[in-house]
Amino acid sequence: MKGDDRLEKEKKEKPSRWRLVVIIISILVVSTMGLILLSERSAVRAEASTLPALATMIEDNQITGLTIRGDLITAETFDGKLLSARKESSVSAFESFQLLGVSSETLKSIPSVVEDSRGGPASYAGLIITMIPLILIGFFVVMAVRQVQRGGGGGMGMGGGFPGQVGRSNARMVSANAKENETTSERPQVTFDDVAGAEQAKFELQEVVEFLKEADKFLKLGARVPRGVLMAGPPGTGKTLMAKAVAGEAGVPFFHISGSEFVEMFVGVGAARVRDLFKKAKEQSPAVVFIDEIDAVGRRRGAGLGGGNDEREQTLNQILVAMDGFDTDTNVIVVAATNRPDILDPALLRPGRFDRKIVLDLPDVEAREAILDVHTRGKPLDDGISLSDLAKLTPGFAGADLENLANEAAILAARRNRTTIGELEFQDAIERIIAGPERKGNFLSKDERKVIAYHEAGHAVVMHHTEESDPVHKVSIISRGMALGYTMPLPENNRQLRSREAFVSEIVSLLGGRAAEEIVFKRITTGASNDLERATRLARAMVTRLGFSQNLGMRTFGEEQGNPFLGSLGETRDYSEEKAQAIDQEMDTIIHAAYRQAKDILTEQRSKLDALAEALLEEETINRPQFEQLMAS
Ligand code: ADP
Ligand code: MG
Ligand code: ZN
Repeated sequence: MKGDDRLEKEKKEKPSRWRLVVIIISILVVSTMGLILLSERSAVRAEASTLPALATMIEDNQITGLTIRGDLITAETFDGKLLSARKESSVSAFESFQLLGVSSETLKSIPSVVEDSRGGPASYAGLIITMIPLILIGFFVVMAVRQVQRGGGGGMGMGGGFPGQVGRSNARMVSANAKENETTSERPQVTFDDVAGAEQAKFELQEVVEFLKEADKFLKLGARVPRGVLMAGPPGTGKTLMAKAVAGEAGVPFFHISGSEFVEMFVGVGAARVRDLFKKAKEQSPAVVFIDEIDAVGRRRGAGLGGGNDEREQTLNQILVAMDGFDTDTNVIVVAATNRPDILDPALLRPGRFDRKIVLDLPDVEAREAILDVHTRGKPLDDGISLSDLAKLTPGFAGADLENLANEAAILAARRNRTTIGELEFQDAIERIIAGPERKGNFLSKDERKVIAYHEAGHAVVMHHTEESDPVHKVSIISRGMALGYTMPLPENNRQLRSREAFVSEIVSLLGGRAAEEIVFKRITTGASNDLERATRLARAMVTRLGFSQNLGMRTFGEEQGNPFLGSLGETRDYSEEKAQAIDQEMDTIIHAAYRQAKDILTEQRSKLDALAEALLEEETINRPQFEQLMAS
């Protein structure tokens, strides 16, 4: 178990280097502060005064002596008191008092001592203060050199010796650790049991686990071993967790690097690290190498902003070379994760490279229940709590959000001095995660509250009266995060396929807020801008992505393109100017029709709109049963 020993050692040595640095810096800070205090002690004893006051006292012959240290003038009175005042640095003490009307004869008659401000203990403090930046710079240079050495396989020496302790101790660590700290591995304890819901992915990865466990079985039959697995999915869906679970299931070491680490490295360092990483993994095989955020280095070459990035390209090439260089019996599996599989270089996806693709999607309602189950294990819950209800309330939550939810609910329960976590805590935690913490306080005027109440009531009433809309779960005019109020639907079943009608209904509901404002107040406010944005996006998707428009037909328009720097989606246009106009027109038509429908519904259901708005003004939050009752009456 030599490998294990080495892992242990790596773990121990890494923190000790940092601890040393922290200790050195704290010693410097503490000693400097002590020296400053020491040097100022005489001044601390003296009472603070002002120059004019001292001048008056000198005139009145109350002062027996003056001590001038730098800009600090300390005067001793006949009764033995010490008074101090500061002068301008550009003017001498003598001149200062003269300017304040003390005659030079009087001044000359008072014994005065001028202490060199650069002598004594204060100077030592000053010296250290000026040294600190130098020491820090030295430290960072040492770190940078270390970094290069670690990656570049010792391509760059230490240069001249560094004077002083910091430099020396680092130099020692460089030589002692240079080889061992290059890449770290761990043996994860997580297994497939800790990953809830992703049954399909687990099923597909089972084969990889078997291969890691008993490669011989496959090799004897001449099977080509899997090399690379690409895990694609939105952030927080458990890609990292799943990769660790593969290693955990097979009981093999797990090497972890992230593509984004390479982006800011010196040219050549990334490639060297990759080389080193794969070397280490081979030595300890069977092993899993996990490359997180591979899109950061594996973007389609030649595409994207600002031309190529040498470092990125070299790193990517090195990954490909390393994977190609595996012998048929090398038992190392490379798992890469990305949330942008569409922008990856095709070279990465060729057979023998990342040829297995596993998609981790946002969890559906059953998976969400399972994930909640994992993350509420060991947390005391109220008896009546139904995780499946909670799962229904959290569409769009990724695994990481659900973990966060369980944690937030526990925190809320603790702050409310409860011994178990209840329905209410979960509800509040959900709202908090969706919309940010509740904004308390009276910052809205009465009129504004009324507009918001009608706006939200408009959303809810329209939602209730459109086909294929989800039922209203909750309406509220309590401000949260950026939203002044909100209407929460309850997605009834987990739909994979949505009809055109469902899209239209969603747009109509989104416009219900603005429609209510216009009908009731005959004027509109800025409160609907987010609604309009979302409605526009939906309309655009209907026309350009889903082929829901009769006039433009069954094709998509434009190719979405990722921009890794801005994070936004650009678009390459693959259609004519005429089509662009037609798309605009079609979107206008959809939104206009939807707005008319929203207004029609609200005019017809005016009494219900009023009733709901009033109830909201009264109670701020209306839950589903109350809402259903209001709509039924
Ligand atoms: P990703 O790498 O896809 O961004 P992570 O693997 O880092 O996501 O997931 C973050 C956290 O979310 C995990 O540590 C885990 O606690 C939780 N999580 C995500 N998906 C699941 C899942 N399917 N089952 C259980 N926990 C999950
Ligand atoms: Mg991750
Ligand atoms: Zn709205």
